[in-house]
Amino acid sequence: MIKNWENLLDILSKDESAAMPYTFLKQCVFLEETSNSAIIACAGDMTATYIKNNELEKIENYISDALGFKITLSVVVNPELLAETELFNKSEDEHIESDAEVAEDIESIKEETRKRSNLDSYYTFENFIIGTNNKYVVAAAEYVSTNAGKEYNPFYIYGGVGLGKTHILKSIGNSFIEKNPKAKIAYIGGGSFRDEFVSGLMSKRPDIFKKKYRSLDMLLLDDLQLLETAQETSKELFEIFQALDASHKQMVFVSDRPPKELQNIEARLKSRFEKSLILSMEPPEFETRVAIINRKLEDLYTSIPKEVVEYMAQNITSDVRKIEGGIKAYLSNRDLMKITPNVEEAINLGIFKNYVTTKATLEGSTIKSIIKTVADYYGVQIDVFRSRDRSKYVSKIRHVAMYLASEYSGKSTTEIGLEFNRDHASVIYAREKVRTDIKANLPITIEIDRIIASIPS
Ligand code: ADP
Ligand code: MG
Repeated sequence: MIKNWENLLDILSKDESAAMPYTFLKQCVFLEETSNSAIIACAGDMTATYIKNNELEKIENYISDALGFKITLSVVVNPELLAETELFNKSEDEHIESDAEVAEDIESIKEETRKRSNLDSYYTFENFIIGTNNKYVVAAAEYVSTNAGKEYNPFYIYGGVGLGKTHILKSIGNSFIEKNPKAKIAYIGGGSFRDEFVSGLMSKRPDIFKKKYRSLDMLLLDDLQLLETAQETSKELFEIFQALDASHKQMVFVSDRPPKELQNIEARLKSRFEKSLILSMEPPEFETRVAIINRKLEDLYTSIPKEVVEYMAQNITSDVRKIEGGIKAYLSNRDLMKITPNVEEAINLGIFKNYVTTKATLEGSTIKSIIKTVADYYGVQIDVFRSRDRSKYVSKIRHVAMYLASEYSGKSTTEIGLEFNRDHASVIYAREKVRTDIKANLPITIEIDRIIASIPS
């Protein structure tokens, strides 16, 4: 006779090979036994079904051993009976959950937390393609999500548009929730953060805002540069920063520029950022772009010709959002026309025209207008292009302008050289240098994209 069910459970709990049956049995109660059978009751269907399908024989053997003779085991579901037993020592109105219910509950708690935190479950590390451009950022992000508030606090990520900064930021939050389903997290963009702060002030309830952000377990602040025009908010952010820092709560900041280039941000805050772990996100290399395209296609359960994938990877170089746009444009054209365009057809149809990185936007620009745009971008005087100044910075800017002029003005290298007070060989040298840098995906790629984007069309 099983005198003491708890005793049996106790034995099982110490037996490593019985870990699985124990997990389930501890939620069951022993109901009765006859000379050759025993009945146990479980709280939920899932547990009962699991035991019946997987563990019945093993458990039969355990119980038989305990009884000293062979029994057949029946498993019934009876949550009420379960609730009445002393074993669980629960009050009547308390519902006892099976593992499955517990698991379900945890999932719904996580979902609640994601909603409350302004996160959605798509953005995970698993969905993110790692390339040499971002491997340190990803490694640090993963580290931070499992060692929150430790040595990399705060963690600061910056880089150009569409490089996956928001994706990584949200992945940190999602991964943290996996281990801390009830965590208090806020994912918020700089603009919304400012709006929330301001509307707190206007409604005369700034305390709600303060309390909310100071009691967080994790702050994920995106597009920090948007606080450049919100000095009061950045002051408040400094207070929040101090509170979270003191209680070792993780903070991650994302911006399009490094801390030292942030303007009008509370000086004390800026200097704390400068001391944080700062990593930049760089544009993906060709191979990574191919991998990203293939992954996105897989996610959509479709494929497209290899040469089209390669064309896209070659021509949509620095913004992954544009890569996604290019894929969508191609697929919708394909599905509408019911033909699979090859590269040439795709180009003729203009499928990729809004997505390719450096094309046509500058076409028809004059050398002078290109020089002006580049000067504005870097904040230098037009004279420096013709000057003898060969400092590193000025040379770089001059190279960029020569490169853009020779790619887009339609003028010969000799004509371009004249505008720069140089000969044609200098122009060719500059062009080749920048081309090589772009191929190697140096940060200059982003600068050039931005210059092109800043040209009024
Ligand atoms: P950012 O915040 O840097 O402007 P996002 O994080 O919004 O960029 O990324 C733009 C889009 O590109 C998102 O849909 C994101 O999922 C996707 N993306 C960016 N980089 C990758 C990558 N390495 N692997 C998979 N998807 C990526
Ligand atoms: Mg973003």
